Amino acid sequence: MSIDRNTICRFVLVCILLTITCNVWSQRVERTIFDWQPTHYSVAITLNDSLTEISAITNIDLQVLKTGLSRLEVQFGDLSVDSVKSGATNLSFERKPGLIVIALPQPAIKGTKMTVSISYHGIPKDGLVLAKDKDGIPSATGDNWPDRVHNWIPSIDHPSAKASVTFTVTAPERDQAVANGRLVSRQANADKTVTWTYDEKAPIPPYCMVIAVDNFDVSGPPSRKSLSYLVPHSDHELAGEFAPSEQMLDYFSELIAPYPYEKLATKAFKIPMRVEETTAHEIAHQWFGDSVTESTWADLWLSEGFATYFAGLFLERYEGREIFNEYMRRQKVVYLGYEKQNPSPIHDTQTTDLFRLLNANNYQKGAWVLHMLRGMLGDEKFFEGLRIYYRDHMNSNASSDDLRFALEKASARNLKQFFDRWVYGEGHPVFDVVWSTKTEGGRNFLSLEINQVQHNAQFLIPLAILVKTDRGEFRKTIDLTGTSVQGKFPLEGKAVEVTVDPDAFLLAETTVRHL
Ligand SMILES: [Zn+2]
Repeated sequence: MSIDRNTICRFVLVCILLTITCNVWSQRVERTIFDWQPTHYSVAITLNDSLTEISAITNIDLQVLKTGLSRLEVQFGDLSVDSVKSGATNLSFERKPGLIVIALPQPAIKGTKMTVSISYHGIPKDGLVLAKDKDGIPSATGDNWPDRVHNWIPSIDHPSAKASVTFTVTAPERDQAVANGRLVSRQANADKTVTWTYDEKAPIPPYCMVIAVDNFDVSGPPSRKSLSYLVPHSDHELAGEFAPSEQMLDYFSELIAPYPYEKLATKAFKIPMRVEETTAHEIAHQWFGDSVTESTWADLWLSEGFATYFAGLFLERYEGREIFNEYMRRQKVVYLGYEKQNPSPIHDTQTTDLFRLLNANNYQKGAWVLHMLRGMLGDEKFFEGLRIYYRDHMNSNASSDDLRFALEKASARNLKQFFDRWVYGEGHPVFDVVWSTKTEGGRNFLSLEINQVQHNAQFLIPLAILVKTDRGEFRKTIDLTGTSVQGKFPLEGKAVEVTVDPDAFLLAETTVRHL
């Protein structure tokens, strides 16, 4: 059968069109801030006696960013809207899937500040979980990540849309209510309910805006009123597992900056496995994730990679370097298993299901990227860079390049190529290292060949080598300038062993062979 030239051309054209279309489709669209910015949410929420339904009024203080803005697109789930107002004026609105579109009385000019007030009621389908706790007691718990808060709070549901928040929660008097920020008041009402008001003055990402209502067990160190552990009554004895939280707060404060918030309330649905690591991870998020928040979902490793690495740093500080190295080895194994099935960069702009970003690139590889930077720059400059990064972006957002700029400032080194390869590129080096000894003119030499055999681009990094001889040992750092690098070094004595990356600072798979 013959195929004429036109058919081939058409086929090629169709392929090109399909490729272009697929590329367009595969880019994730994020709801970033562009025409208006929320600055404060005031959420007054009343729960019924069985904690199965809510009625609420959310006031959104906002600033207009674009002259001519005539409507506000606010993300909102399926709850019934009773009214939308600005002051005493009713505003007309339209419901669209996942949105409430509010018509402004007249086009607004840039810089205008206003408040819209949205009243609504019903059963949130997500975000605020209304369910019985472990002891069968009704409870309400905010669980918003990544973009589920709009199911119970009308908002711009994206990490770049940070705002302060006041929660006023009215709940049955048997329960306790906890929310972000400082407890401002607790008011008993005539109808056997209590109204709790909490105020968080620092801007936080929408997914962090949470309440918890339950008849739970509250404990905490008597010396630290700002620290509390909330668990179901039957887990009372286990609440002590959170005790290292105090040390974690102190250590991360010392390493980076003072704790950014007024209190820390840890609520556990159940006590997790490896409770110390999990608690350290969650506490590290207070600095990295909550205070410095990723600008886009592609920068999620700035939350998860940091929290994973800081949990390791806590182990290093209190349990020693060996335990830390073992922790990092575990992260490596998880990443290598993931990468074989899912080759993609950390900075992922394509995945549309945000839950799939909770992956080993953002957690384990992200932690390793920080560890490698620490290895390259040394402790002093690395941690100084993190402090600059934190100081410049606290209560705000940051991108992967913002982290690079801060580390470059601290170290006076250009890290663009490192970030391009490790954060924006995929994979890791797979080394095949071959060594042999030679005698020339009565002198011993070590001959070394380092090949990168991974399927994707080479890594141009410094590689540390430890050579053991029968007279002692010496170290060399070899700059990898290409896929294959050869070296020859004079030797005292006879080489018996060559170790690549002896301080375990590199995320790589390595085979060392002696010829
Ligand atoms: Zn996390």
